[in-house]
Amino acid sequence: MIYKLLPPNDERVLSGIAPFDIETFKKNEKDLTITDFCNNMFETMKNYGGIGLSANQVGKPYRMFVMGDNENIEKGKKWVCINPEITDMSKDLIRYKEGCLTFPFLFLDIERPQKIRVKYLDENLETKEEEMDGIVSRCYQHELDHMQGKVFTELVSKLKLDMALKKRDKEIK
Ligand code: ZN
Repeated sequence: MIYKLLPPNDERVLSGIAPFDIETFKKNEKDLTITDFCNNMFETMKNYGGIGLSANQVGKPYRMFVMGDNENIEKGKKWVCINPEITDMSKDLIRYKEGCLTFPFLFLDIERPQKIRVKYLDENLETKEEEMDGIVSRCYQHELDHMQGKVFTELVSKLKLDMALKKRDKEIK
């Protein structure tokens, strides 16, 4: 099942999400298991051509995101990250062009730590700890911002954002 992406000004996209709670999930989703839900998330993400998708981008109040499932990233590995955290990060920052399914065709150059150490629960609610680098690290950091209701347009100057928006409008035409 493909979920509908919410527009960038939707309250649910711009609000932080409470920690994942299995009882709330069961009450809301009825017969859907976490795995079923994640399959829908991956299907939605791929349908829109993304490599990461947070639950609040489709209006679901769960502190979780999915990422990966792309043949060019770690052989198509799929990540389900519930209650995600960053436990450590490298001091060196790196610039990288980011996109976001909530903002189609908008790309922003953003500086973030290159490597991170992370902790999250997988779809079986088992704790995972991992080191991430490159695009995986970048994607995780971007999705983690969504958990706090923060979107990537908040991370650049107004001037930079205006320029990127102009470029996007040209491309849409
Ligand atoms: Zn995003």
